[in-house]
Amino acid sequence: SAAVEWVEAWAPADGARRAHDLFVDRFGTEPDGTWSAPGRVNLIGEHTDYNGGLCLPTALPHRAYVALRRRDDDTVRLVSAQEAGRVREVRLADVAPGTVDGWPAYVAGVAWALREAGHVVGGFDVAVDSCVPYGAGLSSSASLEASVAVALDAVFDLGLAGTAEQPDDAGRTTLAAVCVRAENEIAGAPTGGMDQSASLRASAGHALLLDCLDGSVRHVPFDLSAHGLELLVVDTRAEHALVDGQYAARRAACEAAAVRLGVGTLREVAPEALDAALATLADGSAEGDVQVRRVRHVVREIERVEQFVARLDAGDVEAVGPLMDASHASLRDDYEVSCRELDLVVDAARAAGALGARMTGGGFGGSAIALVRADEVDAVASAVADAFAAGGLRAPAFVLAPPAAPAS
Ligand code: ADP
Ligand code: MG
Repeated sequence: SAAVEWVEAWAPADGARRAHDLFVDRFGTEPDGTWSAPGRVNLIGEHTDYNGGLCLPTALPHRAYVALRRRDDDTVRLVSAQEAGRVREVRLADVAPGTVDGWPAYVAGVAWALREAGHVVGGFDVAVDSCVPYGAGLSSSASLEASVAVALDAVFDLGLAGTAEQPDDAGRTTLAAVCVRAENEIAGAPTGGMDQSASLRASAGHALLLDCLDGSVRHVPFDLSAHGLELLVVDTRAEHALVDGQYAARRAACEAAAVRLGVGTLREVAPEALDAALATLADGSAEGDVQVRRVRHVVREIERVEQFVARLDAGDVEAVGPLMDASHASLRDDYEVSCRELDLVVDAARAAGALGARMTGGGFGGSAIALVRADEVDAVASAVADAFAAGGLRAPAFVLAPPAAPAS
């Protein structure tokens, strides 16, 4: 049978030491400190964030680590172990939409957005090292932004993040908005806001119920080990073209449907009112048919988040499995954002005993998740790896995702 490749999370002290040592090696001095922030995985509530809906991410144990030192001028010097370890340099005054190429945009963008929000932030040197898989839909980008945000908060005395023991949720909400602006406007990547909130506002042992209409959160107990369960994440390593265009098209269809329904966001369409809304949208045109399917996904998916949380609140963790399955079917058939690799993970995991499985993240590649009994994790991972090998696909990577701590 095919080999199973696990991507382990680093122990926090190891991650901090790696970033520290890279900093000292490249900049020849000690950093002011080290900070880190997690990637995230969404349990349910997909393509709901930009519709003012609900989503339910958890923080991964996999984190981006930064070592950072404040400078007295306007220069940012940056180096990443994931980007050939070559030092790049940017002047903060030059940062504006479209001016920064490549990964430094995610870092300089955070400083730029803090300034735009009225905070006094100057130059800095920063070294990055990370164990968050890149481009796997697990939000390595938000983990980088959030780690830089809490580092700048500390060295420029912004007083927003609070402490690890007592995080300041209002301040972290501000930092999350700053990170969203950095990613949208400086890195030029569309993002709905779930990733940055998860990285900054999640809490260990909990899922983060995020209401994307007003930005409020609730920490929902999600203790997998107490129930003998694991959350298995499978990075398909699939690369499909047109991802950004498809994302934009989904957003546009939702916005057009909301206009036709006379609502600000699709969140305002209650499940009881769904049939009437779909009847309004179904006007016999091709676009109308597409809108019917997109809206049906969004409204039912938001309802599934509520059901998922109710089952967690009742301590019935295994009962969330069917909701994961229903979410996947809806994303595959109505929202049309799955792909062969994601469907294969879900089908193989379920056949091997997973309690539920679904694609997670935007789709067209990226990762899928499966809720698995702890003593069946190896069997399920093997079954998925074998299915990929039999299908002639590139070997996937596997991650275990107990809900972990936010940026600190
Ligand atoms: P995802 O967030 O799903 O991992 P994205 O395409 O949104 O995928 O973000 C990946 C990009 O974020 C990388 O191409 C790089 O530009 C930047 N990035 C993430 N982590 C790092 C890192 N450790 N060092 C440098 N750049 C990073
Ligand atoms: Mg990203």
